[in-house]
Amino acid sequence: RRAQTLNLGAGPSSLPTSVLVQSAQDIVDYSGTGMGLIELSHRSGTFKTVIETAEANLRKLLDVPEDYAVIFTQGGGTEQFSATALNLLGYHAATNPGYFQESGGRGPPIDYAITGSWSNKACQEATRLGFNAHPVLDARKVPGANGKFGSIPPVSEWNLSDPAQKPAMLYYCDNETVDGVEFPSPGFPVESLPEAYRSTVPLVADCSSNILSRPIDIRAHSIVFFGAQKNVGPPGVTVVILRRSLVEVHPDQGVPHGGPRIPTTLVYKNLVDNGSLYNTPPMFSIHVSGLVFAKLLQEQGGVQGAAERSRLKAQRIYKLLDDSRGFYLPTVKQPNARSRMNVTFRIASTGAAAAAGTAQSTTSAGEAKVESAPAPAFDEALEEAFVKFCKANGIEQVKGHRSVGGIRTSLYNAVSVEETERLARVMEEFMAKTL
Ligand code: PMP
Repeated sequence: RRAQTLNLGAGPSSLPTSVLVQSAQDIVDYSGTGMGLIELSHRSGTFKTVIETAEANLRKLLDVPEDYAVIFTQGGGTEQFSATALNLLGYHAATNPGYFQESGGRGPPIDYAITGSWSNKACQEATRLGFNAHPVLDARKVPGANGKFGSIPPVSEWNLSDPAQKPAMLYYCDNETVDGVEFPSPGFPVESLPEAYRSTVPLVADCSSNILSRPIDIRAHSIVFFGAQKNVGPPGVTVVILRRSLVEVHPDQGVPHGGPRIPTTLVYKNLVDNGSLYNTPPMFSIHVSGLVFAKLLQEQGGVQGAAERSRLKAQRIYKLLDDSRGFYLPTVKQPNARSRMNVTFRIASTGAAAAAGTAQSTTSAGEAKVESAPAPAFDEALEEAFVKFCKANGIEQVKGHRSVGGIRTSLYNAVSVEETERLARVMEEFMAKTL
């Protein structure tokens, strides 16, 4: 059945079959030891080799400089929403004694670029923890957005904190999995940040849903993190790449100066100092991720190879949407911010699709009068029929995220160019039979 199935889930999502077959073997008898990988001590030499090899291959794939540490931890991307803020505030307090008192106990601003649901959640978490979270951009509120994510305005239009206030970080999400919004290639426009800001404010990226799909300039960042369950491996492991200078001091040293107390397992310094083995790590997820790294590096042309395939795959599907004359409606209006990983779209009611030109002029005329333009003419029953049609053709998990509805086809690394062509054919067939 697997050979006939095309899994386009947004995560957890498809992984290379060869990796899964190997993993299945390794969970029973790892490398002739007579023991399964998850039955070994995490402090054994055998597992040490597993984690070190995974790290070495990841470093090669992403060109991680020596002065950056790589840690494998748990808690998912969501735990990093708090861990990034907590650690950077702890570091801030330890290295700027007096700052918290002078700021009336509020602490430094933490800048968040909100381009979709996940960066929004990260900002909400910092607020919930009582920190001075400062949205530098809320892409739902820019003119024409009508309260929906779907564009990334240029940095010159963001409301960045004054570097004199020593912001603890600038946080962004490189690819918004739910909303299908991604920073345009080649990646976050670091060079657009004012020099005084760029050279002093730590840049933090959530790359959970697009890591290893294009190169990323690690040096421009202080922290890059990603949950594994999209391009990397099984759920359960989260990778954090961070500048070593951030863990020179223990954040507890910031506590007397107003910094936060941080749960032990979230303290980056503990994880780095112990080579990710402060406590028992998610061994199986690390191993499978390691197999994915090795395969990408040795057989698939590394990140450059993945980037080229991602470009072709996204181009094929977005062209189909754009050429569908209003039948398939891409939800992201800014073409260069359309995610190469998560293609999100609605399906128009057949009447509206036929009159696509008319529908558009109604929308732009309506905008002058009301803040929220008339609801787009999509047809939920037709979207449901599309999901069923995909299923009947062996294509699974294409329903949009429950918070936004519509359709989402995720084209992660494990989805090949040929499989994307298969999706395109099914989409063309569905359109032809419906119209
Ligand atoms: N960030 C992004 C970009 C995500 O896509 C997700 C999950 N899909 C998360 C964070 C949260 O990850 P987790 O469920 O592992 O906590």
